[in-house]
Amino acid sequence: MNFVTILIILFLVLFLGYPFVFGKKEPVPKGPSLKDIEEEIEREVKLLRKKQKKIFFCPKCGSIYNPADRFCGNCGIKLQP
Ligand SMILES: [Zn+2]
Repeated sequence: MNFVTILIILFLVLFLGYPFVFGKKEPVPKGPSLKDIEEEIEREVKLLRKKQKKIFFCPKCGSIYNPADRFCGNCGIKLQP
């Protein structure tokens, strides 16, 4: 084994190994993990279902409105809480 062979092997190792050593910068997840997101969605859905137990209908147009709304989103009438 001479010096050139060693150089070629070294070059091949560097060339093939480059993407694994330096190329991957993205796969490090910085945001919340998938499990965290699922839990967040579950929480939101439960909250929404709780809110939807009481359904309010606009006295003027009959469309459903949120109890927190002050005005009807459909016709714009002022809503009484
Ligand atoms: Zn309305």
